[in-house]
Amino acid sequence: MTVEAHKETLEFKAEVSQVLDLVIRSLYSNKEIFLRELISNASDAAEKLRFESLTDEQLLEDDPELRVRVLLDQDAGTITVSDNGIGLSRQEMIDTIGSIASSGTRQFAEALQAAHGESDGQQASGDALIGQFGVGFYSAYIVADKVSVLSRRADLSAEHGVRWESDGRGSYTLETVEKAGRGTDVILHLKDDEKEFLDAWRLRTVIGKFSDHIAIPVEMVKEDLGGDDDEGEDKDKADKAPEFEQVNKGTALWMRGKSDLSDDDYKAFYKHISHDFEEPLAWVHNRVEGTNEYTALLYLPKRAPWDMWDRDQKHGVKLYVKRVFIMDEADKLLPHWLRFVKGVVDSDDLPLNVSREILQHNRKIDTIRGANVKRVLGMLESMAKDEPEKYQEFWGEFGRVLKEGPAEDFQNRERIGGLMRFASTHNENDTQNVSLDDYIERMQEGQKDIYYITADSPAAARHSPHLEVFRKKGVEVLLLSDRVDEWLVNHLHEFKDKHLQSVTKGKLDLGELADKEDQEKAEQAEKEHEDLLKRLKISLGEQVSDVRVSTRLVDSPACIVVGEHDMSANLARVLKAVGQDAPDMKPTLEVNLDHPLVKRLEAEGDQGRFDDLGMILFDQAQLAEGGQLDDPAAFVGRLNKLMMNMFMSGG
Ligand code: ADP
Ligand code: MG
Repeated sequence: MTVEAHKETLEFKAEVSQVLDLVIRSLYSNKEIFLRELISNASDAAEKLRFESLTDEQLLEDDPELRVRVLLDQDAGTITVSDNGIGLSRQEMIDTIGSIASSGTRQFAEALQAAHGESDGQQASGDALIGQFGVGFYSAYIVADKVSVLSRRADLSAEHGVRWESDGRGSYTLETVEKAGRGTDVILHLKDDEKEFLDAWRLRTVIGKFSDHIAIPVEMVKEDLGGDDDEGEDKDKADKAPEFEQVNKGTALWMRGKSDLSDDDYKAFYKHISHDFEEPLAWVHNRVEGTNEYTALLYLPKRAPWDMWDRDQKHGVKLYVKRVFIMDEADKLLPHWLRFVKGVVDSDDLPLNVSREILQHNRKIDTIRGANVKRVLGMLESMAKDEPEKYQEFWGEFGRVLKEGPAEDFQNRERIGGLMRFASTHNENDTQNVSLDDYIERMQEGQKDIYYITADSPAAARHSPHLEVFRKKGVEVLLLSDRVDEWLVNHLHEFKDKHLQSVTKGKLDLGELADKEDQEKAEQAEKEHEDLLKRLKISLGEQVSDVRVSTRLVDSPACIVVGEHDMSANLARVLKAVGQDAPDMKPTLEVNLDHPLVKRLEAEGDQGRFDDLGMILFDQAQLAEGGQLDDPAAFVGRLNKLMMNMFMSGG
C-alpha cells in the first residue's frame, strides 16, 4: 500500500465551520491567544505521553526530553508549534480536530449567536463562552488561512504519520505520511495581514505573557532570537542543526512559592488547566508538609459551565504525582457539590501507578479531599466577608450548586449554611443576598425560629397568604424558590441553634411573638364557630384532614397548611413535575374568621351554595400558593355559577 492511497477529503462535522466563524470573530480583538492555545495543547500532549511512559518506557524512544518548540519560517510565512508528546492517530484526528472536541458544539453555536445578538460588538461574552466548549485549536484560524497538522502517535511507527490540512471552510484532507519523530507539528500558514507574527521577539513576548507556567520547556531557535545573520542563512539551515533556547520558566507553577508568583501568573495558569477563556474569580494555593505531602492550587471560575446540571458532566481537579500528570478530573479530590472548582493537586506520597480505583479507597485521598473542602469554604468565607459584591457574583453563578452541600456533607453543614444567601421579605426585590446571620441579627425579641417559605417561583413565595401575619408583625421570612431549596431545608434543620421553620407547616407557633390575646381569641373562636368548621369539613370531605381557625391570615380568607412532618405542598409538586411519586397529602384548611367571605359563608343557609362556596375557598387557597387544581374545570364552573347568581340578584 502506498502512502498516497490514503489521502482522503472529509467534511467537518455539521456545525464546525459556523463555529469557526464565530470563534474568529469573537477572539479577533485578542488574537495572540492562538499561541497560548496551541502551546497549551502541546503541553497536554506531552503530559499524556509522560504518563503513559510510566508503564511503557519504550514510548520515549531515544527522545526522552519532552518540550514544545515554536518555529518560524519567514519564506514560507509559517509558524509551527511542535511537540514530542503523545501524538494523534488518524482516527483521533477525525474525532478531535475534525469535530470540535466538546460534545456541546451546537449548544455552543447557539449560545454564541445569542450572546452576539444581545450585545452587538461586545466581545467579552464570546470569549467567555468559547472557553467552556473546548475549541482552543480553532483559534489558529484567527491568524492562519490554512492549518496543517502533522502528527504521529508515540505507539505507532514512522510510516503511520498523518497529515491533516484545512482552510477551515467545511472540509479537510487527511493523508498518511512518514514522520520520523513522534508528536505533533501544528503549522500555521499566516494570512497576509497577520505576517507581523513572523517576529521572533513578538512571539517570545506572547509566550512570556501567556505560557510562562507551562511545566515543560518551550523553546525557540536561538538564531531567530539573535537574528544578525542575513549572510549564508540558507546554507546554515541546510547543514547544521539549529540551537534552541528555552523561553519560559518551565517549572510546574504550583511548585513555585506564592511570593514568586504574580496574579497574572495564577490567571494564565488557570486558563491553561481549565480551558476557560475568562479569568478565575479567586484561588487558594497551599503546600502541605508532613506524612501526607502535597500541593493544592484550587480555583473558582467566574462563570458556570453550560453543562453544570448535566449528570454526566465530569468534574474534579487535575491530579499529579511528583510533578507527573496522572489524570484530569480526579473527582475523588472534591465532593460533587463543589463540582465547579478547578485546579491541581500534586501529591508526593501517592504511587505513580495510582488509578481511579485506587483513589476510591485511599486514606490519603480522603484527607486531601477533606482539606480541599475546608480550603474552598475558607476562600468563600473570606470573600463573603471582605468582598461581598464578588461573593454575590459567585452566588449568582454557583449558589444553587452550593445548596446541595448541607445534604452531602454533614460535618460542614453549619459552615455551608453560613454561606447560603436567600431572597427575603426584608428586601424589595428577589435578589438572593440575605444570609442566615443577617436574618438572626434582625430577629425580633422573643422570636426563636428562622422562618422560611418554599414555593415554585419568587412571586408565588412573596405573595403567599401564609406571610400575612408575619408581615403584620414585621417578622422577616426567607423566600425560597429554587428547586434545590426543598432539598436544602430537608437537610439544614438548624443554624446556630436556631430552628429553620416553614411557615406553611404545622400549627403556627409564633412563640413569644404571638399576641396572647390573638391566641386566646383563636381558641375561643374555635369553639364559637365549631359549627362552621364542622360543616366545611363535611363539604370538603376526603380532600382535607382538618379545618381550623387561622392565626396566620390578615387579608386572605383561607390557606392550606400541611403537618409539621409532612412533605411540603411545593415539594410534592416538584416531585410530580419530574414524574416521581409523591404521597397524596391531605392538607388542613385554615380559615380567616374576620374575612367577609367567611362570614358570608357562615350565614349561608342553602346547603348547595354552602358546598360550592366552601369548595371555591379551598381551591383558591391552593391556587394562591402556586398549587394546581385536580379539577380546574369544576372550579371555573362553580365560580361562574356564583357570578351568575350575583348578576341575577342584581348585586
Ligand atoms: P481542548 O484542549 O479544550 O480539548 P482543543 O480545541 O484545544 O480543545 O483541542 C482539541 C483536542 O485536539 C484536544 O483535546 C486533543 O485531543 C487534540 N489535540 C490538539 N492539539 C494536540 C496536540 N498537539 N497533540 C495531541 N493532541 C492534540
Ligand atoms: Mg486546548
